[in-house]
Amino acid sequence: MLGGMQDFELRVTTLLDHAAREHWGRELVTRWADGSETRTTWAGIARDARKLAQALERLGVKKGDRVGTLAMNHSRHLVAWYGTAGMGGLVHTINPRLFDDQLAFIGNHAEDKVLFYDRAFAPIVERLKPHWTTIEHYYCFDSDGPDGFEALLAAEDGNYEWVKGDEREPCMICYTSGTTGNPKGVIYTHRSSVIHAIAEMQPDVFDLSARAVAMPIVPMFHAVGWGLPWAGAAAGIKFVFSAVNDPLVLCELMNREKVTHTAGVPTVWFAMFQYMDATGAKPEHLKIVTIGGSAAPRAMIERLMKMGIRVNHAWGMTETSPIGTMGAPSWDWDDLSFEQQVDQVCKQGKVPYGVELRVVDDEGNLQPRDGKSSGRLQVRGPWIVQSYFKAEEPAVDADNWFDTGDVAVLHPDGTMQITDRAKDVIKSGGEWISSVELENAAVGCAGVAEAAAIGVHHPKWEERPILLVVRKPGSEVTAEEVQAHLAQHVAKWWLPDEVHFVESLPHTATGKLLKTAIRAQYKDFKLA
Ligand code: ADP
Repeated sequence: MLGGMQDFELRVTTLLDHAAREHWGRELVTRWADGSETRTTWAGIARDARKLAQALERLGVKKGDRVGTLAMNHSRHLVAWYGTAGMGGLVHTINPRLFDDQLAFIGNHAEDKVLFYDRAFAPIVERLKPHWTTIEHYYCFDSDGPDGFEALLAAEDGNYEWVKGDEREPCMICYTSGTTGNPKGVIYTHRSSVIHAIAEMQPDVFDLSARAVAMPIVPMFHAVGWGLPWAGAAAGIKFVFSAVNDPLVLCELMNREKVTHTAGVPTVWFAMFQYMDATGAKPEHLKIVTIGGSAAPRAMIERLMKMGIRVNHAWGMTETSPIGTMGAPSWDWDDLSFEQQVDQVCKQGKVPYGVELRVVDDEGNLQPRDGKSSGRLQVRGPWIVQSYFKAEEPAVDADNWFDTGDVAVLHPDGTMQITDRAKDVIKSGGEWISSVELENAAVGCAGVAEAAAIGVHHPKWEERPILLVVRKPGSEVTAEEVQAHLAQHVAKWWLPDEVHFVESLPHTATGKLLKTAIRAQYKDFKLA
């Protein structure tokens, strides 16, 4: 027997329809790369998305086709998401910071038919055009000419009905940034995106409501813009987009538009703090800062919390839509000391309803939630990947567990703590040293701007850690000072055998340390 309720397909267009109907006048502000600004509303986004859906059909795009975007955050990019999904296509956000061969690979692998791009990325488009074999049409988001996005929309009347279909149909594809191999395409369904959006609004996740004014600093091409473009419509929030990530621009915008929520990787805050220190300016209205993508360092969490801001330490991946866990305040938060609160936020938090987590050892044995036993982190749930685009094998085991490649510990209360990526763990004498913990402890040392810990070959211990440090401008911090600082935070046998100072460290396209490149550089390194 089936139940008696409506079989209402969960399609992402229902999120936009809701926003346009119930929050029609709520604003979306864009600060463009050339310094100009535009304002629209949810009603405007819905109108333009319908026009875009018509235009895409006119261009010959069919249900199931992929439409690429090479763009920063702005309202037209949002229109491209909803318009494409609304005509049954898959929006394919491409990360412009990838290397050319990766860009060529993913454009061809996804078989994009159309590409929308920011003028700032025109040089990439010119370079890659001869290599992209399937793209038939190129439109520039911020051009006033006939090749411009607005000209494409202007030819349509917006009288359009969204394509209907099964909620399990795809609406989006996003490639992993390839920190650990060739980029792989994750294909989100309408259903997974809507359920994720509903979960994301919750108080213990992003805490989105109609009163929220959100500035996603995380680019829309990084892991679904952390789901905000979908969830924002469901909650009817005000969006403030900036197509450039300059701290001066961001801070001014945040203050003028009274931004309450932001989300971004830790690097964003390194830059913002430097700007704040230099000018005395600060974001005045922020209530919640979500940090994820890599571990948020303690010093960063502490500084934001001292400003009276709730820090949401999030863990997730492209494969998890991306919310996996979120470090919202626990039920006994008010009883904790400031230090205990910071300790809590340094961990990666708990799962919302919808995600199941477990930790297993290398043989696949389930590890207890004892806060000590570390192992491979596995997840499953309705917004977790099942299989990659064009892959022959599923990405999960027979019980749908997806192995994240992360190493983690689960605490008795369910809090998850990432200790490392499986590939980055330093194996010394059969024991594991967490490179992440060493790095986070190091950036708490005065004068250290950034640090990377890697394992190098050791004749007796197999591997020993060395630490590469970038000094803050003007700092003369020494190796001894760094070691003395670390000694207060990590076990003695974890202390790096050597500390080296470098001018800069390589990063991935999403701003994380590029450990593969650093390890390759130190492959034949001999400890003194
Ligand atoms: P890529 O795998 O290409 O770097 P993702 O953005 O999908 O792209 O990265 C997901 C990975 O980022 C996770 O598997 C984890 O290693 C790391 N990560 C994400 N959030 C955190 C966090 N809060 N703390 C530590 N690591 C994190």
